[in-house]
Amino acid sequence: PVTSTERFLAAAEAHSAHNYHPLPVVVATAEGAWVTDVAGRRYLDLLAGYSALNFGHGNRRLLDAARAQLERVTLTSRAFHHDRFGDFCTQLAELCGMELVLPMNTGAEAVETAVKTARKWGYQVKGVPDGRARIIVADGNFHGRTTTLVSFSTDPEARAGFGPYTPGFDVVPYGDAAALEAALDEDTVAVLLEPIQGEAGVRVPPPGYLARVRELTRSRNVLFIADEIQSGLGRTGRTFACEHEGVVPDVYVLGKALGGGVVPVSAVVSSREVLGVLAPGEHGSTFGGNPLACAVALEVVAMLRTGEFQQRAAELGARMHRELARLAAGGAVAAVRGRGLWAGVDIDPSHGTGRELSERLLARGVLVKDTHGSTLRLAPPLVIDEADLDWGLEQLRDVLGA
Ligand code: PLP
Repeated sequence: PVTSTERFLAAAEAHSAHNYHPLPVVVATAEGAWVTDVAGRRYLDLLAGYSALNFGHGNRRLLDAARAQLERVTLTSRAFHHDRFGDFCTQLAELCGMELVLPMNTGAEAVETAVKTARKWGYQVKGVPDGRARIIVADGNFHGRTTTLVSFSTDPEARAGFGPYTPGFDVVPYGDAAALEAALDEDTVAVLLEPIQGEAGVRVPPPGYLARVRELTRSRNVLFIADEIQSGLGRTGRTFACEHEGVVPDVYVLGKALGGGVVPVSAVVSSREVLGVLAPGEHGSTFGGNPLACAVALEVVAMLRTGEFQQRAAELGARMHRELARLAAGGAVAAVRGRGLWAGVDIDPSHGTGRELSERLLARGVLVKDTHGSTLRLAPPLVIDEADLDWGLEQLRDVLGA
């Protein structure tokens, strides 16, 4: 008999574009750190929607906020005001220590928005001659899938075959402040970086790097744009990963967890000097800043204001990294990187590929995803129980034969 799992997999295989290679699990319901598949099997989710689910699946506060808003009004478009918009922008700006918020929906859209804003700022405020603005980015970056953003990707999978490419970007090695300094010139309007590179395998830059980038950008009148879409909003044990180096960028780009895993919400958050360059008609989005998005994101901001989730990420993260360090010391894994409740674990090829290990973990009821062949990315929901986290790591130890 054809199981329902097979039926769902076959339908996806037959009628969806194959731009992903998902693990063969068909999720039906979820709560907290756990998901249940169509066959009733439970799995511990150690990926958390690439950090979009920092507050867990079906978070009660977020669902209540969404449900209440669903009954009132869900969309006005920005042609009109609505009664959640001002509060959302005010609260998010305050959380970020910034002045203005420009809401969008997906991460890629928010990065695009930051790119457009930086260029406009360059022409209007910095005085760069029209059409000459340049933005410095890092190798190994991941900022999204639009044509402009893949133009400066260094990952052939993400980039090849999608040209012609958008000009105006200079790629420098990640973590190398001297290379970045050498790339700065009078037409540079911004440096766009992930404070920790998620997709690249949770690459943490050397100590002092972000602080040096901050110094250089400040002294050269260049905007420092921190893409905290994956690293921000509690994941690393702080609200922003930049905080670990005492760095405040000019622009935060946020997404993923901002929508609580309920609705897509992203935003560019910055000063009046920067976001103030945009005039009516120059940028926008039908769904950006819609009432449902604002209601959920307002609750996310309120939850982050308490510091409780950041604290949890720091404590559980220390626990997870202690265990991963033991695995590394025992030779079961080649390298471990990360901060807070976030880790990139490089698997020794003798244990199999990242994909094979993900499949073995799936068979044991643990969901993780490989990246770049031999790296597993761990990003459990910040609400995960200590005992569940321990159990998940025990499964990892077992599949590594450690
Ligand atoms: N920027 C970073 C750092 C990300 O990790 C991602 C997604 O993984 C994005 C941008 C793109 O976000 P989205 O997939 O919502 O467009």
